[in-house]
Amino acid sequence: MWFPRHQALRLAYRVRLHRYEPREEWLIHVDAQTGRLLSSRENLGRVTGSGRVFDPNPVIALGDHHVLLRGERPTRFVPEEAYRTVSLTDLAGTGYLEGKRVTTRPTKGRVRRSDNRFLFLSHERGFEEVMAYFHIDRALRYLEALGFRGRRAILREPVAVNVNGTPKDNSWYSPGLKRITFGTGGVDDAEDAETILHELGHAIQDAICPGFGQSAQAAAIGEGFGDYFAASFFAHKKTPEYRTSIMTWDGITWDEIYDPPCVRRIDEAYTFESFDHGKWAEEHENGLIWSATLWEIHRALGRRIADRIIFESQFQLDAFTTFSRGARAIMDADQNLYGGKHHSRLRRLFAWRGIGPLR
Ligand SMILES: [Zn+2]
Repeated sequence: MWFPRHQALRLAYRVRLHRYEPREEWLIHVDAQTGRLLSSRENLGRVTGSGRVFDPNPVIALGDHHVLLRGERPTRFVPEEAYRTVSLTDLAGTGYLEGKRVTTRPTKGRVRRSDNRFLFLSHERGFEEVMAYFHIDRALRYLEALGFRGRRAILREPVAVNVNGTPKDNSWYSPGLKRITFGTGGVDDAEDAETILHELGHAIQDAICPGFGQSAQAAAIGEGFGDYFAASFFAHKKTPEYRTSIMTWDGITWDEIYDPPCVRRIDEAYTFESFDHGKWAEEHENGLIWSATLWEIHRALGRRIADRIIFESQFQLDAFTTFSRGARAIMDADQNLYGGKHHSRLRRLFAWRGIGPLR
């Protein structure tokens, strides 16, 4: 074939290359005389579809959890105002919810829509798949915009998600399978985008530092980091009453623990002194110290600066890390990104939480 180049035509070969994991299709032109590469582009349809989601969840969308309770149980039929119709970007165009950054491939009974319109209600099959696709794709695009792209990209494969992997009220990220599994006990976990971002936090840490969370302190940092990521990402959508509560839909019946009901908060006044070093210590509980510290950094420096520093600091951590090493990594990240501009404020925050020494 003839390939136009510099106002001339070159005799060229056109080659199609297929890759299956991740799914890619390349269209390549090679100069027939010199063998030089004339052009290459990823040809798999980067399709934009549409979907109906909660953003992040019905409690935040309506600004009130009471209207979503029927007695002591969450309502099955969420009011229409709690939904948003959104664009689903970078779909592969296969009709499934899979694309550049996310795939729901491990999910049983996946939905397929050849027109890429995924408009479901929360009690219908497919809704949780749309939630996982939209929220993970958007959160990863945000990280790309913060500078974690190209050679600094955090995830190089689409995040694989099983949205209905267990009937229990539990979700987890498996470092072995590189997969997030959401449970359907109580409120379906994937109906709350803050639960989705918490689990994505584990996938991100594992991508940066394989096997992260091997010590009690590292495990607590893992939980606190996911809680912070969810809180930071959605803070601007919340009224002050709900701003420091996370997973308020997932945890809507947990009213004996928190008011407003939620799975956890990120504004506890705990210091490192209350860290439970015991054999049966609970990493989510210990993680409250870390998430509250990160939240104060967010409040002091603003969302973008705090997020950049906190995500950057992850690259310095090892799988067995400690709170004081985590704090030093945050100081170093501030040094690298902002010339140490925020050191004195960070130092005060860590000192108040009893986290250190910093040097
Ligand atoms: Zn977790």
